[in-house]
Amino acid sequence: MGVPRLLKIGLTGVVMLCASWGFFAHKKINQLAVFTLPPTMAGFYKKNIEYITEAAVNPDRRRYTIPEEAPRHYIDLDDYGDSASYKLPRYWSDAVKQFGEDSLQAKGILPWHIYRVYLQLKDAFLVRDPDRILKVSADLGHYVADAHVPLHTTKNYDGQLTDQVGIHGFWESRIPELYFEEYDLFVGAATYIPNVQVAAWDIVIQSNHAVDSVLLFEKELSNKEGERKFSFETKGKQTVRVYSAEYAQKYNRMLAGMVERQFRSSVKRTGDMWYTAWVDAGQPDLKALISYKPSAEELEKRKKELLLWKEKNIKSRTHEVSEN
Ligand SMILES: [Zn+2]
Repeated sequence: MGVPRLLKIGLTGVVMLCASWGFFAHKKINQLAVFTLPPTMAGFYKKNIEYITEAAVNPDRRRYTIPEEAPRHYIDLDDYGDSASYKLPRYWSDAVKQFGEDSLQAKGILPWHIYRVYLQLKDAFLVRDPDRILKVSADLGHYVADAHVPLHTTKNYDGQLTDQVGIHGFWESRIPELYFEEYDLFVGAATYIPNVQVAAWDIVIQSNHAVDSVLLFEKELSNKEGERKFSFETKGKQTVRVYSAEYAQKYNRMLAGMVERQFRSSVKRTGDMWYTAWVDAGQPDLKALISYKPSAEELEKRKKELLLWKEKNIKSRTHEVSEN
């Protein structure tokens, strides 16, 4: 999401642009996820790694042009009361029955949207459409990464309710940019996820558990450090106020590796979801897609076949309603 909902005027009136995980981290997450894939998938993804990396931020860019995009990047769990993350329906159709679509959209739909995009990716593999596979893979990596950011799971998304405005960009942009060089980037091979919708919820629940630490530690540190919290950096002709490097170091230490852990898990889970969508689509031969691109007519024909097949199987697929 970005700071999420709107661009904000920063504390000193300096414009602070914040994007989810920062553009830097989003791109790195998608790029690194490519290296978790098995050889049967890696060739195709590596060939297109530049695109997958750059397109990692497309969902944030769309937020300014497509009204329905914003709620896909977060979920305000605290709006649902105590233990919301455990009580909320796991599947979208059940959630709509219980709360109505407008109410869900107003509070954010991130975990359900991850599952929807996974289904889109599975479909893209089923029709063997290389462009769509890449586009949707990039999108999926973005939403999976967003779900790892604790502040994407609360209505106090930028500390605006606790006088901590700016903390969103601090956690997800400033900290990873300062410490990325020290991160252990080896996350292992992608593994199959038996239930993607439940996995999306698990990520969100885990992130939500960290919200208190993210906010309370910063509050504590801020009370102690006062104005030492900020320093000024010159970027081009502009001087901007930023959280000082010393302050960031102290905060990062209090979080005990949380940002790195969430970053690493974002990489791993993105790879897992790409891999799972490919396995669930019957492991199509991706090598063939590196040099051969099916014609528009051929893709149209395959999409129609997929649709027919789905209609036949609809009864046994109650939760898998693709919403392409
Ligand atoms: Zn986002």
